[in-house]
Amino acid sequence: MLKPKDFQEYAPHFMAWIEEYLKNIRSFPVKSQVRPGEIKALISEEMPLEGTDPLRLLEQFKSDVLPGMTHWNHPNFHAYFPANQSVESLLGEFLTAALGAQCMIWDTSPSAAELEERMMQWLGQALGLPKWEGVIQDTASSATLVALICAREKGTGFSSNEYGLSQRLKVYASEQTHSSIEKGVGIAGLGRKNYVKVPTKPDHSMDVQALEQLIKQDLAEGSTPCAVVVTIGTTGTLAIDSLKEAVEVCKKYDIWCHVDAAYSGSALILEENRGWIEGIEEADSFVFNPHKWLFTHFDCSAYFVKDVDHLLKCFEILPEYLKTKSRGEVNDYRDWGIPLGRRFRALKLWFVLAGYGLQNLQDKLRKHVRWARKVEEVLEDWPNLEFVVKGRQNGVFIGYNSGRGLEEDNRITLSIKDGVNETGKAYIIHTKINGRVVLRVIFGQTYLEYSDIEYFLDVLRHEWEKYD
Ligand SMILES: *Cc1c(COP(=O)(O)O)cnc(C)c1O
Repeated sequence: MLKPKDFQEYAPHFMAWIEEYLKNIRSFPVKSQVRPGEIKALISEEMPLEGTDPLRLLEQFKSDVLPGMTHWNHPNFHAYFPANQSVESLLGEFLTAALGAQCMIWDTSPSAAELEERMMQWLGQALGLPKWEGVIQDTASSATLVALICAREKGTGFSSNEYGLSQRLKVYASEQTHSSIEKGVGIAGLGRKNYVKVPTKPDHSMDVQALEQLIKQDLAEGSTPCAVVVTIGTTGTLAIDSLKEAVEVCKKYDIWCHVDAAYSGSALILEENRGWIEGIEEADSFVFNPHKWLFTHFDCSAYFVKDVDHLLKCFEILPEYLKTKSRGEVNDYRDWGIPLGRRFRALKLWFVLAGYGLQNLQDKLRKHVRWARKVEEVLEDWPNLEFVVKGRQNGVFIGYNSGRGLEEDNRITLSIKDGVNETGKAYIIHTKINGRVVLRVIFGQTYLEYSDIEYFLDVLRHEWEKYD
């Protein structure tokens, strides 16, 4: 059992490993190549009776745990959306871990509450949001659940929190929206059958005219439309719904408008993208994840609301032991979301935002976007390659076109993806758009260089040519 004084003896070994890891991250297979159960078999079935020296555990971590890790911060991780980090963020997380504070209310750590308030203010300004207040949540899924609950209370005049639901409330989002919306609708007790998938236009954004038709139909049938979720950057193809049109519909029918910009929200720090949120003043809530494309460790999700009082009215609960003298003067963030307990997440965010400065963040994101366009130019010349969409932020979306029909194209596209991933040299995933398998490649890693992208293109080309 270690004492605080032992830290200086042990920590250098861990620091040395971290430094080597980050410097040599390119030498690891991006996607873990282990089979199911392989790692579990290396860990004894029973907890040891005697203690183990942490240096031995470090060795076991290297030999038995590391092979089962997928390296999310490898520059050739182009799958899903990134969960990128930075040295700045890591240093902040160090301090958060050392403090080990539980920052549920202002009294339990005033700095955590006040730094969070300032960081949300910085982010709001950086993204060009209205002067709304915000709170850090763990994930966009939680933030969207919070928004849906706020919408539910608005739709029922605050009666559902007290008595449960007695009405049929409807939630609308495009058919390209993230799965967390449907999950949230279920958890909020609204019933997944009351989740309405709105058709999309050829660019995969929500067809807002169809949205209005669906709302009219539901009203005629006696349901209450309660929330519309607008997606800024869909998971499949980074499509942008028209917020400007959607808020008009929401206003007309008095419906909560939640904006899910989980991934693409980071790119709002670039002025050229501000058109995406035209009309935001008329929306009710907005979420994006600094833990995706803003170099801040998972988890860190920024949730902004127009009406804080409404949020508090939905989530506040005040048992005797949480009553404090400072209440009313300060933000007690436990009332701004679901869990009582909260990590000090604002610290790593501060290290990133102040450590980089806005200009460096902008330069980095612009570079990622520019590189994606450059890759599209290179791919123009490849045989049998079709772009599903083009020119979308830092993503590239392609499929194989063999001329032998959709089924064959899909089979080949999937084989190319598996081939790339089995090399361990890069990691990509696919999605399906209108029945077509699409490779989606995202360039958003913190320490990505164009030479990494050239290396990736070699790996991809090797697989691609197998089907010529
Ligand atoms: C990633 C993502 C989510 C889910 O984010 P979590 O923070 O993992 O819950 C939701 N919506 C969109 C558009 C996303 O890109």
